[in-house]
Amino acid sequence: MKSYEKLLQENKNWAQGKTTADPQYFDRLAHLQAPEFLWIGCSDSRVPANEITGTQPGEIFVHRNVANLVINTDVNLLSVLDYAVTHLKVKHVIVCGHYGCSGIKAAITNYDFKAVLNMWLRNIKDVYRIHRKELDAITDEEQKTDRLAELNVQEQVFNLAKTSIIQKAWKHEQRPDLHGWVYGLKDGIIKPVYEMKAGTHIDSLYEYDDL
Ligand SMILES: [Zn+2]
Repeated sequence: MKSYEKLLQENKNWAQGKTTADPQYFDRLAHLQAPEFLWIGCSDSRVPANEITGTQPGEIFVHRNVANLVINTDVNLLSVLDYAVTHLKVKHVIVCGHYGCSGIKAAITNYDFKAVLNMWLRNIKDVYRIHRKELDAITDEEQKTDRLAELNVQEQVFNLAKTSIIQKAWKHEQRPDLHGWVYGLKDGIIKPVYEMKAGTHIDSLYEYDDL
């Protein structure tokens, strides 16, 4: 059996198991999607949103990209955000990074990853620049990348708050709260590192009127 065929076989087994345990399972899910959470996580295969939070299909709306970035020209991310916030009306948006993130490590080097990856990783270099004083003072490389992973999720939470999508929902519906978390590959524990409640004022330069 080829490796990808095993995935299809496992899928059949999983669906069978679900139906056996609860005959209405798929029927119910097919008719309703009302997740309370939007998860913006890293694409890393070791950080599966549902599994590490003990949640089931239907509970978390998920977007993943390299190093969990929120970039204001990323149509993919913004579409997911708009749909989750404006239409699904999620109550919480979670940016979850992880320690030992390859994207974070790569951004600290001077290696030329060529056009597209350089462009993406540049955003993490910007986060480093903002916090250069603190990060430069950390001599241990692993500690430095781990701290940058924390500062990165904090910065991505700020980026969420700068969008009119979030500001509009804050103004009219007092939701969603924004959370910055970092997952530990070594112990499986998620550490909350930053939180921004709905309605928090940010630098007025970024606040829109007429929302
Ligand atoms: Zn990662």
